[in-house]
Amino acid sequence: MTPAFLIQKKRDGGALTTVEITELVAQYLAGTFTDYQMSAMLMAMFLRGLSDAETTALMEAMLHSGKVLTLPSVAGPKIDKHSTGGVGDKVSICLAPIVAACGVYVPMVSGRGLGHTGGTVDKLQSIPGFRTDLDEATFERIVRETGACLIGQTAEIAPADKRIYALRDVTGTVDSIPLIVASILSKKLAEGIDGLVLDVKVGRGAFMKEKRNAKKLAEALVRVGARAGKKVIALLTAMDAPLGQCVGNALEIREAIDVVCGRGPADVVECTLALGREMLLLGKVAKTPREADAKLTAAIADGRAARTMERIIAAQGGDARVVTDTSLLPAAPLKTDVFSPRRGFVTAIDALEIGLSAVAMGAGRAHADDKIDPAVGIELLAKPRDAVQRGQPLARLHWHRASPEIEARVARAFDVGSRRPPKRRLVIERITPSSRASRPPRRR
Ligand code: URA
Repeated sequence: MTPAFLIQKKRDGGALTTVEITELVAQYLAGTFTDYQMSAMLMAMFLRGLSDAETTALMEAMLHSGKVLTLPSVAGPKIDKHSTGGVGDKVSICLAPIVAACGVYVPMVSGRGLGHTGGTVDKLQSIPGFRTDLDEATFERIVRETGACLIGQTAEIAPADKRIYALRDVTGTVDSIPLIVASILSKKLAEGIDGLVLDVKVGRGAFMKEKRNAKKLAEALVRVGARAGKKVIALLTAMDAPLGQCVGNALEIREAIDVVCGRGPADVVECTLALGREMLLLGKVAKTPREADAKLTAAIADGRAARTMERIIAAQGGDARVVTDTSLLPAAPLKTDVFSPRRGFVTAIDALEIGLSAVAMGAGRAHADDKIDPAVGIELLAKPRDAVQRGQPLARLHWHRASPEIEARVARAFDVGSRRPPKRRLVIERITPSSRASRPPRRR
């Protein structure tokens, strides 16, 4: 089973066995399957596709290349949520305490922002003192004591994925559904969870721009998760316009706090409750969607979600007073409004352009080693379907120094037309293991 034999087998459309995939990942980590051979293999996988059995084998091999947590001292359902990434997506930050307040444990390992989408870890680090680099024992203790813990990826979790992802990034092999599935699940299943709820974003500001591809990704994630013995369901949610009113790290923490305290914007609340409902159902703390909704809304209304958020922040070294006093979060000194050029209705806000503008302001990273400015960001003062007057502010830029180019870019991201657009669904589809018969994809 030489590297060249395995590469040729896949190149010619053959199916690799579980033993072959396990061996190639092991050899890759040992250095006997080289980077250039792995690059060739990834391209063969990209072009030929992987069956569910091959994807599961690759996912398992990457999962077991590092530590797989079991969280033995956490007695209760352990369910996480993963989003494929969007603009203004702060849902993990409000969802974890709300769900934890309902009796589901949330051990969450999240990523940093790269490109136009923000990262949960960067957002959390805008809370003064908040630490996301905790060791395994501390992670488990905080999950047990508070109900949730949100940390960043560690070197021990799925190291094979880390190396393979870095290769994919420079070999044009990122956007392959089976490779994405294996990559996402290898990291998430290392958290010691019983189940996973996936938020697969679709639209201008998402990784998957088209519903067809987003659905294929969601279905593959659910199928492979089930093959690995986990309860996995996915929601397809819209990401044409940014989620909520805030884009930028501290601004998004403020908005997540608003959701936990019962005053969040309607779309973030809807997305949070839809995902929370699935987590409560997977965790079996609710028998019906209605019961799940009642539990989630009660936890917000009676303050349990907010108190849980304070406990999580304090346990992770952060200043928990931010939950009742958001003025303790970093704030930029200068605010500049962008105005509507005409009277009418906001027909669209381009999430990709808003995300890229926020990165240009310093809220995100263009390169992996760029530093983030937690205080800067964009507040959307009008959302799609809102009526606006000529000269009415559409967005507020929070920054240290104004840039006419960025102001113009944000202004261009808004479409103001004469007709109010129809209401669009935020949750587009729910994908469960029984949604569709499992079919191995022949090609990407
Ligand atoms: N996110 C991941 O973690 N892996 C991918 O391959 C793509 C997105």
